[in-house]
Amino acid sequence: MTATVPAPATELLAGLAGRVPGLRALYEDLHAHPELSFQEVRTAGIVAEQLRAQNWAVTEQVGGTGVVGVLTNGDGPVVLLRADMDGLPVEEQTGLPYASTVRAVDPDGNEVPVMHACGHDMHVTCLLGATAQLAAHREHWRGTVVAVFQPAEEVGGAPAMIEDGFLDRFPRAEVCLAQHVMPVPVGIVVTRPGPIMSASDSFRIRLFGRGGHGSVPEMTVDPIVMAAAVVMRLQTVVSREVGGTETAVLTVGAIHAGTKENIIPDTAELLINIRSTAPAVRDRILRAVERIVHAEAAASGAPQHPEITALPSFPVTFNDPGTTNSVITALGDTLGHQQVVVLPHPLTGSEDFGVFGTALGVPSVMWHFGGTDHALFHGLTLEDLAANGLPADVPTNHSARYAPVPDPTIHTGVTALLAAAAHWLC
Ligand code: ZN
Ligand code: ZN
Repeated sequence: MTATVPAPATELLAGLAGRVPGLRALYEDLHAHPELSFQEVRTAGIVAEQLRAQNWAVTEQVGGTGVVGVLTNGDGPVVLLRADMDGLPVEEQTGLPYASTVRAVDPDGNEVPVMHACGHDMHVTCLLGATAQLAAHREHWRGTVVAVFQPAEEVGGAPAMIEDGFLDRFPRAEVCLAQHVMPVPVGIVVTRPGPIMSASDSFRIRLFGRGGHGSVPEMTVDPIVMAAAVVMRLQTVVSREVGGTETAVLTVGAIHAGTKENIIPDTAELLINIRSTAPAVRDRILRAVERIVHAEAAASGAPQHPEITALPSFPVTFNDPGTTNSVITALGDTLGHQQVVVLPHPLTGSEDFGVFGTALGVPSVMWHFGGTDHALFHGLTLEDLAANGLPADVPTNHSARYAPVPDPTIHTGVTALLAAAAHWLC
């Protein structure tokens, strides 16, 4: 006989629908007031105030602007739930009534527009909804929840919290859980056991030539031609040196050289980014980049070796397989199994969430939840989307037009956090 057993999270979800209008107002306020990485002072203040109002023990300024809430509710498992708080230097073009018009000064001293273009405002909103539900329903769970609101995900801010004594200052979690909104139909949750997000490595490459008059190139070593050769040769790394069954991306995202049409400059600079999901592939790509940059400089007769400087990097985000399967079951039991999709491949985006599980030496699980209106998918099924990718007009994370719809994304995000946490707490 198969009786229908209510999902463990059912009791934790009581009253959530009545909480959503307040969460929606919070989301719109956060969306209208985005802050750059490590500048999340206003956001952190709101988070701390709300957690205190919910009777959580609150610690501020962890790793800069990070906020940690702890709610202990008797003996039991310790579960870490994480949200990120930062926006991006993007000029918002959503046309929403609560669109951002904020400008701020970036670390290089430039004034830039700021937008929640990656949906971190949604993550803060959903985690504050989940903490409120946990505080309101203490009789239905036991253990300790550590709610982490981290700064600066976009530049890898998680290590700043670890370096600020995170491991010793807060109860040690036995599992770390996080979610990220993405452009799949609202209500859908996607994840996978094993690698879920790619490693990201970025480099600044300076190529040295010998400048001179544009009319006498034979007197110079042209760094622009050298840079062009490097850019073209780098395109062969993934296509010719990475196997067809592996996932990797190499992008030259910026190229800077020269000032005037008849001056050959002294130097050229490239900014490159590499995504990979297997350490062996990552190593092979990094070696290939170094080999190609040095060889092209030599081929041009460069007077000086190129400089390759590492920029912030992210490790592979790895979902512990056994723990992830438990979370997939918990999410399916609560949201409906047809709403939970197991991805065949890791995503090529990157994350620093894995830093918490790695530092604690415990499993972590990350999933993604849809925030995009079904109408934008023109009736395409999930199978169509998996096979052919998103329609070109669907805004993606980091786009000036990306903003998750509040309803029912907030409800889904809070439900997913509570469903997964309930596997340990209930
Ligand atoms: Zn992002
Ligand atoms: Zn993000």
